[in-house]
Amino acid sequence: MDTINVTRSSMPPYEEYIEAIKPLWDSHWLTNMGIYHKQLECELAKYLDVPEISLTVNGHMALELALQSFDFPEGSEVITTPFTFISTTHAIVRNRLQPVFCDVKESDGTIDETKIEKLITPRTVAILPVHVYGNVCNVEEIQRIADKYGLKVIYDAAHAFGVTYGGKGIGNYGDASVFSFHATKVFNTIEGGAVVCRNHELYEKLYNLKNFGIRGEELVVTVGANAKMNEFSAIMGLCNLKHIDEALASRRAAYECYMQRLADISGIRMLVADKPDKKNEEDKKNYGYLPIVIEETYKCTRDEVYEKLREQGIHARKYFYPITADQACFKNRYREDKLECARSLAEKVLVLPLFAGMEEGQVQKIAEIVHII
Ligand SMILES: *Cc1c(COP(=O)(O)O)cnc(C)c1O
Repeated sequence: MDTINVTRSSMPPYEEYIEAIKPLWDSHWLTNMGIYHKQLECELAKYLDVPEISLTVNGHMALELALQSFDFPEGSEVITTPFTFISTTHAIVRNRLQPVFCDVKESDGTIDETKIEKLITPRTVAILPVHVYGNVCNVEEIQRIADKYGLKVIYDAAHAFGVTYGGKGIGNYGDASVFSFHATKVFNTIEGGAVVCRNHELYEKLYNLKNFGIRGEELVVTVGANAKMNEFSAIMGLCNLKHIDEALASRRAAYECYMQRLADISGIRMLVADKPDKKNEEDKKNYGYLPIVIEETYKCTRDEVYEKLREQGIHARKYFYPITADQACFKNRYREDKLECARSLAEKVLVLPLFAGMEEGQVQKIAEIVHII
């Protein structure tokens, strides 16, 4: 039996990549801000419609360094969402900051902006929301709150590559946004990530933080880490970027096929909000994930659907169960809101397979299993 995983990495044609890496055998320049690193930064800034972008070894280090670049005092509080990949919370804690968990919205899983304000204390320094599954947070309201209390906003945009909102690239909101180019994401550099920089000062700071603070053969100006992207990864990114429009179109086709087959099942809904009030027809989605919510009214539970699919070789995932606030390493350690919606969603959500190159037959098979149960 062929298994279908929740995602499948996008890869350029083999010959294309092999051809593209050939020059490395002439230059012997494999990392340390080589020409492909520079070229990918330029092309991504254009594609994502952002002022500047700093590439990193992965999305997690991009998050850690983005937080570090603001020099928050140790022990400061960062209001964040627990309905995310564990990396978001780790990045806060590993910076010796305190996560404060805010609840999310039932409709789309993003941070509930109406619950942020009451979590703010004199120790709060930042808000770290997540555009979870590519669903755009309420960026206007979050910015309003941040401005009112003098807080920084750092978006975890790991799921939101290529998403636009209000006619602009999603990376233009907040003080910084972080992308992941992990193999499993919409756009990949095998492993990789980036921080969007609103100004050149932040770019320079991140440059130091990702390269040991080295600024000359005999000059180190900052205590930095090693979080640079290497040239093989940068070239993978350049090759994948050439095919990104096809990849997104293919995801969209699979997504629409799912919509047709799952839209009218009572007890199942999509965890993707169209925000009809603010919808801009021009705005782009990336069809990165297919999260469905299996309500109590459905004939079987989320776990039963998960198991049924599994028996047929289909590996759907319970993203994000358990929520990060309930993981062994964080449970009962940090301040939290009630988290009712986050916990309830985590019990009901199932992410179905969706990737570029997915066949209609595969979607049909999966939808059928969900239906027939
Ligand atoms: C993937 C992901 C990360 C981490 O990115 P890596 O490139 O895997 O280090 C962070 N946050 C979220 C929400 C993610 O999905």
